[in-house]
Amino acid sequence: MSNRPEHSHYVRRVVLPSGKTIEVVYFDDTPGATQPTASNVPARTEREQTDLHICGSCGSDLVYPVEWDEAGATHWEVSLRCPNCEWSGTGIFEQDIVDRFDEELDRGTESLVRDLRRLIHANMEEDIDRFVAALHDGHIVPEDF
Ligand SMILES: [Zn+2]
Repeated sequence: MSNRPEHSHYVRRVVLPSGKTIEVVYFDDTPGATQPTASNVPARTEREQTDLHICGSCGSDLVYPVEWDEAGATHWEVSLRCPNCEWSGTGIFEQDIVDRFDEELDRGTESLVRDLRRLIHANMEEDIDRFVAALHDGHIVPEDF
């Protein structure tokens, strides 16, 4: 009886030193109950259906190749999997689509590292917030030092 999806995740807004604001979405570990949402997808104007990293099932952009094989001189047979909704499938794609996918995967690795740095930074901010709050509430007094 936990049919209340609005409580299955919460968003924390993080302001980066650059002034940019990102939203970190936290999900409860209730499989099936959550409808994952990308709350801050970078403005993507040309969303094409041939973007292999975009999941056709849930819209996640985390689709990655499980394996790929040459299929003729100009095509590749690629098995894909979406870690978000467990969708998987295999298709034959043109060279330039696969090339673009390859570039996107490189970008994905870079942005993963960036996200990780932001998260570490956000956690640090949280510690500082807690410390400041404790100071204000009088839980930390000069005798502590
Ligand atoms: Zn998916």
